[in-house]
Amino acid sequence: MLPRIDLHTHSTASDGTLSPPQLVRAAAEAGLDVVAITDHDTTAGWEPALQALPGGLRLVRGAELSCRWNGVEPSLPLHLLAYLFDPDAPELVAELALVRAARLQRGERIVALLRADGIDVSWPEILAGAGGGTVGRPHIAQALIRAGLVATTTEAFGPDWLGERYRLPKEDIDVFQAVRLIRAAGGVPVFAHPRATRRGRIVPDELIAELAAAGLAGLEADHEDHSPAERAHVRGLAADLGLLVTGSSDFHGTHKTVQLGAFTTAPEAYERIVAESSGVVEVASG
Ligand code: AMP
Ligand code: FE
Ligand code: FE
Ligand code: ZN
Repeated sequence: MLPRIDLHTHSTASDGTLSPPQLVRAAAEAGLDVVAITDHDTTAGWEPALQALPGGLRLVRGAELSCRWNGVEPSLPLHLLAYLFDPDAPELVAELALVRAARLQRGERIVALLRADGIDVSWPEILAGAGGGTVGRPHIAQALIRAGLVATTTEAFGPDWLGERYRLPKEDIDVFQAVRLIRAAGGVPVFAHPRATRRGRIVPDELIAELAAAGLAGLEADHEDHSPAERAHVRGLAADLGLLVTGSSDFHGTHKTVQLGAFTTAPEAYERIVAESSGVVEVASG
């Protein structure tokens, strides 16, 4: 049987709802052979996930980096998955700290906007809800749910709320700089959900070609935010550019409905990621 490989998941180190130990146990229970932990802009979940790794499961240490393409006006946010990079590479560590600080500033500003409109959400409570992990809009969504203003996270990301009316940009890492820093740290960069039109504006294929020339390794094709046509387009683009393709759940626990292993990556693509990396080793237990 082919190994089941899920290369994009979140824990409480960012906006997931399972702690890193719970995440790796759930991955084993879901029948995965390989799981990547890819919290937003942090490696804080790596060590606890490693300590709790169940027998037979391989852990790929990674992160999902908040990036920005500054080649258009207004600039466009996008996410890069970074795998098996050195978590102590100074420049990358510094950029991640800046993005996490920018997330705090943006979160507090969003809460101020909500409060100015008479919406009773509390920033200290939202911070407590994030439990020391990277703060994201899903934590604000939880506050809106607690206040009885929306019923679900999906609704909280609608145009009346965090999706548009109370949407504010944050400062992110320039995407070319991010590709360079990930590679310099021995990591392997993969563009997360590049055609997810339902999340907002997407980048043109020309940018992806430029990123490929700059060191991008792959594209995430199979993802719940891509339609079948979008998945096919991403596969075609990857073939044209010589990039690998991945599929992953982007599991967030109960902050989303998608389950671990809902989308998976082919063994050849996974092996290419491991082969191209030199920052940390992929770890197996048992
Ligand atoms: P942030 O990183 O703070 O900008 O928030 C983005 C995060 O919110 C993503 O990583 C997802 O976890 C979540 N998210 C984005 N769009 C949606 C949506 N439409 N429904 C539910 N969660 C979403
Ligand atoms: Fe997220
Ligand atoms: Fe993402
Ligand atoms: Zn993600």
